[in-house]
Amino acid sequence: TSIKAEEPSDTKPPPLAGANVMNVILVAAECAPWSKTGGLGDVAGALPKALARRGHRVMVIAPRYGNYAEPHDTGVRKRYKVDGQDMEVNYFHAYVDGVDFVFIDSPILRNIEKNIYGGNRVDILKRMVLFCKAAIEVPWYVPCGGVCYGDGNLVFVANDWHTALLPVYLKAYYRDHGIMKYTRSVLVIHNIAHQGRGPVDDFAYVDLPSHYKDLFRLHDPIGGEHLNIFAAGLKTADRVVTVSHGYSWELKTSEGGWGLHGIINENDWKLRGIVNGIDTKDWSPELDTHLQSDGYTNYSLDTLQTGKSQCKAALQKELGLPVRADVPLIGFIGRLDHQKGVDLIVEAVPWMSEQDVQLVMLGTGRPDLEEMLRQMESHYKDKIRGWVGFSVKTAHRITAGADILLMPSRFEPCGLNQLYAMRYGTIPVVHAVGGLRDTVQPFDPYNESGLGWTFGSADTNQLIHALGNCLFTYREYKESWNGLQRRGMTQDLSWDNAAQIYEEVFVAAKYQW
Ligand code: ADP
Repeated sequence: TSIKAEEPSDTKPPPLAGANVMNVILVAAECAPWSKTGGLGDVAGALPKALARRGHRVMVIAPRYGNYAEPHDTGVRKRYKVDGQDMEVNYFHAYVDGVDFVFIDSPILRNIEKNIYGGNRVDILKRMVLFCKAAIEVPWYVPCGGVCYGDGNLVFVANDWHTALLPVYLKAYYRDHGIMKYTRSVLVIHNIAHQGRGPVDDFAYVDLPSHYKDLFRLHDPIGGEHLNIFAAGLKTADRVVTVSHGYSWELKTSEGGWGLHGIINENDWKLRGIVNGIDTKDWSPELDTHLQSDGYTNYSLDTLQTGKSQCKAALQKELGLPVRADVPLIGFIGRLDHQKGVDLIVEAVPWMSEQDVQLVMLGTGRPDLEEMLRQMESHYKDKIRGWVGFSVKTAHRITAGADILLMPSRFEPCGLNQLYAMRYGTIPVVHAVGGLRDTVQPFDPYNESGLGWTFGSADTNQLIHALGNCLFTYREYKESWNGLQRRGMTQDLSWDNAAQIYEEVFVAAKYQW
């Protein structure tokens, strides 16, 4: 596919939803900037704003993990039963960029922001039960700008297994009883690897009539017979979305569906792949506030060469690497786990150490991989930095200062870092899987087209091969490199396109097309 140079879309207003205007409530376990462990937080923070720009009335509901500055207590108090116990929740509200953000406050949701998904299985499940029960009634009880949303013309957008109970509650508690009859639910799959699995007896905690039990029951080679929250949500939601076309296809395979491929195939008619956008204000080399100190600088397409070199020098300086313009600087940002293929990078390090390159890796996660990062740094002090930690500022600075971003993910539903990288003129080298395959068209030197380098399987030799080609182009073909950068930077990566397709899904759900 050829990549058209387009004006960034934040300069032109998106089309309005017109007759399709709805009330949209997105419910998620994390929402940037208040809470974020990965892509889900970014999506929950940004997609709603794009929907609001189209004219929808849009709310996000997330847990109140900490004492956030803007949201104020609405004074609304409700009680919900969780595992037989009455629990009170409070609702906080903030109106930001045209979106109502409602935070659900409860002692069991508080002070876990460092470890949102931590704790034992039953505790996590109880948190999700409370959160979903409370979220579903927000449109009735929590006034936003003085007026409650109500349940007319309403669609809930639930995300991942954490909120997959919401479509089930909507049906079991309300729609089965003629209440919220016209309210619809869409469930978005950001990552199928986490499903809310537990023993079948956990059904007692989800607090549903017994005839709902079979909806949750799954038998597969991974878990034998077990209770699966995601399975129940996928079956019940009016529509299912996942975050790229490539991933929507992979989910239907036994390898990519992680035991849920059967259910996903059965529900293929209601599944749609929509590639995530990015927050083009947050992730803009021209506006990025993290580039306004410590020697970094904002830059645009016009100032790319000087601006990026300055950021690279600032990054090398900040990290204590030799400050050299000519050495290719390779970055990695992400959760340190099996999914992200960090071990493939580790295996490629002996090869990299023989090249004239610098490597910086930022991430947290599995303790053994964190240790690997530290060891690599101490082994190759003049070449490698392994930054163990979660730092949004450093992520932005690496994205700006690096020449190349490595993403050897074994699977990647969408992937955001490669999108951020391209916007900053940083060239992605990725395993062609899921959203990475959708978004990084391989460089074609004959036509001077494409956006980066891809490799076909999650294998160290393939990574080395692709990276080797990338480095060769970096060194020998400056014009081609510059073309790659320009094509990457001028793509329309905003949420506006995705928001329009989400709207189509809402309309299809509304009229049950
Ligand atoms: P996933 O959702 O699987 O973690 P994505 O690429 O979709 O992967 O999104 C990851 C998001 O989390 C990006 O915004 C990325 O910059 C951010 N991120 C991941 N690890 C870190 C870290 N250690 N420090 C700062 N940001 C991080």
